[in-house]
Amino acid sequence: RLKEGRALAQDVWSIFNAANLPADCLNLGQGYMNFAPPSWVTEAAGEALRSVAPNHYSHPRGRIRLRNAIKAFYGPQFQRELDVESEILVTSGANEGQYSVFTAFLEQGDEVIMFEPFFDQYLPSVTFNGGKPVYVPLHPPSADKVKPSSDDWTIDIAELRRAVTPRTKMIIVNTPHNPVGKVFTRKELEDIAAVAEEYNLLVMSDEVYDCLVYEGKEHIRIATLPGMWDRTVTVGSAGKAFAATGWRVGWLIGPPSIIQPTLAATTRIVFCTNSPLQEAAAAGLEQAQERQFFEIQRAEYTERRKVLTDAFDKLGMKYSNPEGTYFVLLDISSVKFPEDYPFPQSVLGRGRDFRACWFIALEIGVSTIPVSEFYCEEHANIGEAYARFSFCKDVDTLKEAAERLQSLK
Ligand code: GLN
Repeated sequence: RLKEGRALAQDVWSIFNAANLPADCLNLGQGYMNFAPPSWVTEAAGEALRSVAPNHYSHPRGRIRLRNAIKAFYGPQFQRELDVESEILVTSGANEGQYSVFTAFLEQGDEVIMFEPFFDQYLPSVTFNGGKPVYVPLHPPSADKVKPSSDDWTIDIAELRRAVTPRTKMIIVNTPHNPVGKVFTRKELEDIAAVAEEYNLLVMSDEVYDCLVYEGKEHIRIATLPGMWDRTVTVGSAGKAFAATGWRVGWLIGPPSIIQPTLAATTRIVFCTNSPLQEAAAAGLEQAQERQFFEIQRAEYTERRKVLTDAFDKLGMKYSNPEGTYFVLLDISSVKFPEDYPFPQSVLGRGRDFRACWFIALEIGVSTIPVSEFYCEEHANIGEAYARFSFCKDVDTLKEAAERLQSLK
């Protein structure tokens, strides 16, 4: 039963991956960088590979140097002395960390609430572990909003409350949000926290884009709200932080009551995370502050975002200006394409946005991700209005994409 339907259907990443697209297509689809991680981080990786210990299994909790670095970097943000033996768990990417939390906590039929659109991996990660996803909408900006931002995607807390049943086990929060770019406000998080407290729910807070929050917006960690530490696990990622998505190094921070069972799950799923790159991630966190790395990186991403949004402005197309992440949603409902275009089968079986994105990739030479993938089948039509562009690319690539996009007119 679990293996039916959407969970094992072809995923959007492999439909729109480079191998299926012309070589000269600019890839603004899957969120990965076309530039290298900082050299002081990759040097630490090289050094680790040339040493003995970091080439062997790490402790399933993660190498101690990385756990210490996480403690030092995040402790002040969580306003607590994190215990490296019971409150930090290194995982093989954020995705595996989340999967292991579900494995550890979900019983058959347990419900997991997620705001929709949602990062697509949540759905199979929940269902593979016997859980049932329950969706609460992030309402899109109203049509009369001339220049919407990711802030205009709103939640209705009454809808969240109504989604809770006796089977609800967990709420997934994702801030900054993929694919919307929304940075949840303190008020929104307080409202979500109140529901979690009232119904005694766990919260998984996916904060992998925490280092990418723009101008004046503040990243609030729901785990730091009163009473929330004990029921929240926070997810982080070296890939997003250090332009190294292929490393698959992530981490979980939370109370021992969540981290310990999750450790048992992760130990059985992957045993441990690759060791040398944990050393590199540690070097990254150890030196980030002194090098003002995240401040500089944020400024670079602000510039990258502008190249893309300027191009949309020039086209007169509507988009939600993202307050966080490296994603921007463009309204593609006005993009026209011939219905008899030679679309592959994988695209034909899906929403209009799949066809529009395929057409834009092949005819304009810019690949993007159709947003209906981030909705359940029932609500996919809402996502069909949008394409997600990633701006984790160098400025030259983005400028070239901006130029090509002008022929969308
Ligand atoms: N987080 C990446 C994105 O949204 C994709 C990760 C994945 O391939 N599942 O682009």
